[in-house]
Amino acid sequence: MPRYVMVIDQSRCIGCMACVAACKRENDVPMEHFRTRVVEMVRGEFPQLRTEMRSELCNHCDHAPCVSICPTGASHKEKDGTVQIDRKRCVGCKACITACPYDVRYIHPEHGWADKCSFCQHRLNEKKEPACVATCIGRSRRFGDLDDPESEVSHLLRENSWRVLKPEVGTQPHVYYINQFPRKS
Ligand code: SF4
Repeated sequence: MPRYVMVIDQSRCIGCMACVAACKRENDVPMEHFRTRVVEMVRGEFPQLRTEMRSELCNHCDHAPCVSICPTGASHKEKDGTVQIDRKRCVGCKACITACPYDVRYIHPEHGWADKCSFCQHRLNEKKEPACVATCIGRSRRFGDLDDPESEVSHLLRENSWRVLKPEVGTQPHVYYINQFPRKS
């Protein structure tokens, strides 16, 4: 069984938002909501400043508070490491939205269930990459199996220093960022 992760090379993102558009189209995300977003940030110290784009999405956390707080078991962890939502069991109580430290969930305005990035689970079942990864023209987003030492993501994480968002909250995220500015040695 794979252990799916995403690696985001921040030096390669040009902020074109193709990933955001592809995600919306692929997953029928309502206009006013997002499963993934690209945040523009200014990093560094004056005068060494740089604008940097940072993709954000569900981190498919190992210790996911959205899973532990879900009263019905709708939010759950799959064997491949992804965090998924069983829409039939979701009652739209929003507990997961409150629990997630990354603000990556929303309630679908039409259907009432919680929704978020699934790493395009339906595409994974067809041996395809998530739509955002397949669309990324800068190859900023990479996806693969962390348990395969020869996978591209394993190589990237071995060969680069990396970070995750909000490590202090103890969720053990599985979206990794490399080549942020200023670069770590
Ligand atoms: Fe759950 Fe939020 Fe972690 Fe995704 S990022 S697994 S929604 S706590």
